[in-house]
Amino acid sequence: MSQRALLYEGKAKKVYVGDRPDELWVEFKDDATAFNGQKRGQIADKGIVNSQVSARLFTVLEQAGVPTHYLGTVDERTLRVRRLRMIPLEVVVRNRVAGSLHQRTGLAEGTALKEPVVELYYKNDALGDPLLNDDHVRALELAPPAVVEALRSEARRINQVLSRFFADRGLILVDFKLEFGWDQDRLCLGDEISPDTCRLWDQATLEKLDKDRFRRDLGGVAEAYRQVLARVMQ
Ligand code: ADP
Ligand code: UDP
Repeated sequence: MSQRALLYEGKAKKVYVGDRPDELWVEFKDDATAFNGQKRGQIADKGIVNSQVSARLFTVLEQAGVPTHYLGTVDERTLRVRRLRMIPLEVVVRNRVAGSLHQRTGLAEGTALKEPVVELYYKNDALGDPLLNDDHVRALELAPPAVVEALRSEARRINQVLSRFFADRGLILVDFKLEFGWDQDRLCLGDEISPDTCRLWDQATLEKLDKDRFRRDLGGVAEAYRQVLARVMQ
């Protein structure tokens, strides 16, 4: 990838120009960060797992009628995607209580939510990605109300498809984060869906098979990521 023009290097991925102006190549790194970049490390083959898990899940979503940026695979850690005008929001969907929802509400980790909870966060590292309500989104002019409504309904639809997909493979989709952008005037799912951006628990043992193993120093991080890839490919 070294001869290609690098447009952006983030915490988890490098974004390169594609073969066409409306396409990008996204290379997934093994670098891992948590707590807004305060904890750093490497997870062996994470980039390979995350690109391949994302490719599979984007394909499943496309088949269910969800527009995504996914176009194809370049190599084992690089995807070819549509270039989107990204909306600087992180859309989080939760089926069970974990992470910051546990901290904010005091509800016990693992509590099943009667209805999925959808949250919006401002994608802004300098501010630490704060939680926003709809009035904040409007005040910041990040998206008009109709677009916020579309993001929420698309996120719920994606949750239905992915929750079923993971359940069929013995995994509980606890929560996950999505990023959307515009392909012309079409709202499109971008970025990645992987053990970095989802909480996934084994249905039988409730073992954590995601980035929480890294965040909390639980050990067996690379093995957990590989297990998710193996199950997603079933
Ligand atoms: P971060 O910027 O949070 O450190 P990454 O290392 O994952 O994150 O970098 C990937 C960047 O590419 C993110 O800023 C993400 O919003 C952006 N991105 C993802 N998909 C697309 C796309 N299809 N078009 C344009 N930008 C994208
Ligand atoms: N998440 C993410 N990127 C972020 C923040 C959260 O992918 O910048 C994912 C996280 O992996 C989890 C879900 O979004 O699956 C909810 O995360 P939470 O708000 O509980 O935050 P965290 O535990 O990361 O503080």
